[in-house]
This record gives sequence, C-alpha cells and structure tokens, in this order.
Amino acid sequence: MIPVLLPTPENIRRAADALRQGNLVAMPTETVYGLAGDALNPQALAKIFSVKQRPFFDPLIVHIADRSWVEKLCDQLPPEAKILMDHFWPGPLTLVLPKQKLVPDLATSGLNTVAIRMPSHPVAQALLREANIPLAAPSANPFGRLSPTQADHVAADFSTGIDCILDGGPCVVGVESTVIGWINGEPTLLRAGGVPLEILEVTLKKPVAIHSHDSESSPQSPGNLPSHYAPRTKLVLIPPNPPEGGAPPWGVRGEREGLICFGNEPVLAGFAVVENLSTKGDFHEAATNLFAALHRLDASGLNVIYARLLPEIGLGRAMNDRLRKAAATL
Ligand code: AMP
Ligand code: MG
Repeated sequence: MIPVLLPTPENIRRAADALRQGNLVAMPTETVYGLAGDALNPQALAKIFSVKQRPFFDPLIVHIADRSWVEKLCDQLPPEAKILMDHFWPGPLTLVLPKQKLVPDLATSGLNTVAIRMPSHPVAQALLREANIPLAAPSANPFGRLSPTQADHVAADFSTGIDCILDGGPCVVGVESTVIGWINGEPTLLRAGGVPLEILEVTLKKPVAIHSHDSESSPQSPGNLPSHYAPRTKLVLIPPNPPEGGAPPWGVRGEREGLICFGNEPVLAGFAVVENLSTKGDFHEAATNLFAALHRLDASGLNVIYARLLPEIGLGRAMNDRLRKAAATL
C-alpha cells in the first residue's frame, strides 16, 4: 500500500526528500493529481514512464513554482509566451517552448521543445519549493485510463512504485491543463483544457489556431492519441440530435446502463445510474465533477455508460475532448 499523507510541512519535507532521491510522489494540482519525479533526472523520468506504463513517445509536462526556471529550461520565447505566463500562471496553462540542453530527452520524447507549466495548487507549490527542482508530472493514473481528481483515485490505481500520495483534496479545475505550442510562429491550441480557448484569444487579442490531431503521427503533440482518459466500462456518446423515430440505443433489456448528462435536460428514463455533471449548467462545476463521475460510473457494475456531449464552448471543449477520447476504441 502506498501511504496517503496529509500535506503537513513534515510530510511535504518527506515527499521532497523522496523526489530529490529520484523517487516518485503523487501530488495534487488544480487540474488532476500528478505523478511527480525530478524532471532533470533521467532515472526518475524512466520510473514515471514505467509506473504509468506510458509509451516513451508521449512527452511529459515540467512543473515549476518559480519563473526563474523558465530561462534555465526554455529558449527563444515567442512574444505571446510572456503575456500568457503573466496572465495564466500559476494556473492550468502549459506552454510548449524550445528547450535548453538541461532538459533530458526523456522528458520531451526527444523533441527539441519542452512543455512547461506553473501549477497554482498550494500543495504542488509547497512541494516544488521544498524540493527545489522542476517536476515532471503526468496524471497519476495508468496510461490511457481515467484521470485522478482525488487522492483515493490514485491509491486505487497503484500499489507500488510511488513513495507517497499527498492528499490535497479534490482538484478544483478537474480537467488537464490547456496546452499551447507555436506552429509556424503562431500560438496554437494543442490540447483543450482548464483555460478556455476564448479567454486565451481575448488575452492575446488575436485568434489562436486549433491544431488538428487527425494525422496519426502528428509531430507537434505526440501524446494526443485518439483513445485516452478511458473507463473500463464501454462508453458510448449519444449524438446531439438522435434521428427522429429511430429507436434509442439504450434501454436494451438486461443491460445495466449509466448516463452522464449536463444541465436541466429532461432526464432520460431507464438508466441504473445517472450522473448530472451540473444541474444548473455550470461548466466549471461540470469540469470539477467529470472524472469523479466517470470513476463512480466505472465502479457501478454497468454494461455501458452513455454520455451526451456538452456545448462546444468554454470548458465544454476540454470536457468533450475527454469524453470523445474515453469513447474511442483502441
Ligand atoms: P499529460 O501529461 O498526459 O496530461 O499530457 C501532456 C501532453 O502535453 C502530452 O500528451 C503532449 O500531447 C503534450 N506535450 C508535452 N510535451 C510536448 C511537446 N514537447 N510538444 C508537443 N506537445 C507536448
Ligand atoms: Mg494523462
């Protein structure tokens, strides 16, 4: 069993010592729980890939608590990068920037760019400051499965390989960070996340391109696989406008079915478990609930989980991305 520890100063010191010795710690961030290791130590990075069973071609996000690390880790910052750091750090925004030699190739999957972010969670910040090293921290779940937004999600997924889990309570954002890179010199959305695209565009006073991940070997964001964030139970998306007169796919006799919905839509009958992400239609509340709701449905002994996509605006974009990938088959 991996110890789940309250983030007392003593436990933060213990976790920071473990990190400096090259071991892994699960830490709360405002997005999801991260599996943290020393970003400058290739052996610690190798442990992250091995414990998560993450393929080496999927690069890691490096977390910092202090802007002085930016110049040590990154090079040739585009003009928009500083504006974005000033506005959104600390917070759920990751920037993909040209890397300095100091960053091990394992952190970037051999790319010449590094993904970097400053988390706002007080426990993540305290741990980063105490360890005094940048921390690579992908989500603390087995690769491809549901992301953890509570300490007990992490404890349920792993039994070895992690020194301790710091319990910082439920994550307040609940979806992963927005990832922005630069393609042909222009800021481009590589992954929808906790900072909505519209807010980035208002801040930068210009449109932000959306990178298409259609090509299987997209060099810009190798981690954007079509299947990810998946529960063990089959997840099926309900089309926004089911064909009229056509029989709905749910309600098949003998199946125990679950539903994920949002807002005050009429409740569909016949589901064994219904998770409404936010009855009042609040995107922020829905994002906070998304993964916990999926974890609960996954533990409810269902044959299938149905999910309706949210409106494709604001945080809805990030949640729909997670639901589409959860529904994709490998
Ligand atoms: P995760 O840590 O799984 O939440 O996701 C990190 C994601 O950031 C990866 O899956 C990549 O898509 C993206 N990423 C990290 N580093 C880079 C990079 N150097 N270039 C492009 N995308 C990156
Ligand atoms: Mg992840």
